[in-house]
Amino acid sequence: MDKRLTLLSSQMTFEADGLPATRVTESCSRVKNVDIIPAILPHGGKTRLLKTLLSSACERDCYYCPFRSGRDFRRATFAPEEFARLFMQLHKADLVDGLFISSALAGGGIRTQEKLLDTAEILRGKMGFRGYMHLKIMPGAERGQVLRAMQLADRVSVNLEAPNKARLAKLAPRKRFWEELLQPLRWVEEIRREKAPQQAFKGKWASSTTQFVAGGADESDLELLSTTARGYKDLGLARTYFMAFNPVPDTPMENKPPTSALRELRLYQASFLLRDYGFDLEELPFSADENLPLPTDPKEAWAEIHLKHTPIEINNASPRELLRVPGIGPKLAQKILRARRIRKLQNLSQLKKLGVASMRAAPFILLGGKRATQQARLF
Ligand code: SF4
Repeated sequence: MDKRLTLLSSQMTFEADGLPATRVTESCSRVKNVDIIPAILPHGGKTRLLKTLLSSACERDCYYCPFRSGRDFRRATFAPEEFARLFMQLHKADLVDGLFISSALAGGGIRTQEKLLDTAEILRGKMGFRGYMHLKIMPGAERGQVLRAMQLADRVSVNLEAPNKARLAKLAPRKRFWEELLQPLRWVEEIRREKAPQQAFKGKWASSTTQFVAGGADESDLELLSTTARGYKDLGLARTYFMAFNPVPDTPMENKPPTSALRELRLYQASFLLRDYGFDLEELPFSADENLPLPTDPKEAWAEIHLKHTPIEINNASPRELLRVPGIGPKLAQKILRARRIRKLQNLSQLKKLGVASMRAAPFILLGGKRATQQARLF
């Protein structure tokens, strides 16, 4: 296997689709010395992704980044055609199903984006690759390039890195928050709304995501989740990723303490409450310092305040109310609605059979008018 691919795939330590960063290195497999990452596809199903860079030779100097210019490490670069050929070798050997490709910046965002697009076009056109492709949008890419990326890829993403302009200045002072990062994400949503999806490679527009370096800019959870909420609402993001800040040796931030994996987990949990559970930002249980409490998951912390003394009757709760109960997610709420049409739910074992984490739910629900906590002692 080409040594550059081995090098670039192992240097790509950012998190994969559907998989938090902290789990990537534990769960990826090495095939022919290339890191293959298991991932969940946007609409379910598992895949094996080659996650790599087209180049790690960056001209910029973001303070936290291992690829920053001037840092002493081995760099490598592929031309689009040679990368496409290598990828197809792996794909034809049934070692990978899909591709997540990004790049360090060389010659500006527009030129770097062009190389990524050339790679994607060779794969889709000349080489007939129809599998999953996640394409990064480079800072400063043009609208036409964003459209082209959406026509070729299943998913596109722009890393905002920080929740606002002031925080980004602490991580990457040469990146322009509004013009270079947020604007491409706005174009993605505009294109999805305005243009017919028949123009896209698979007849469906690419979904979009972003990523933050959590804790890198001393930002609060409120700042991160406020931008996350706007991303879901205004930009149609499928997901926001949080990569806990980890100091990289030989960077200006090498002595900054790392962000805990627990904070990363709480941010993910809260972002799912915003995306899938009907929570508003104002409802999340932020502490006085504008961060989420670390010891308890945010849904449980909310329920402790709001449901402990006014539990929800499972037999006549609305779908929205069911989603407020710890241990009940969107699929389980639907199951409960179906089950209670057939017969009244009167005990925790019925909920448990449906898949509900009944011990978690018990303090916050009534079953047939009775506190479920009394039954919980029997379990
Ligand atoms: S532009 Fe990207 S790759 Fe280059 S230093 Fe900044 S974050 Fe790293």
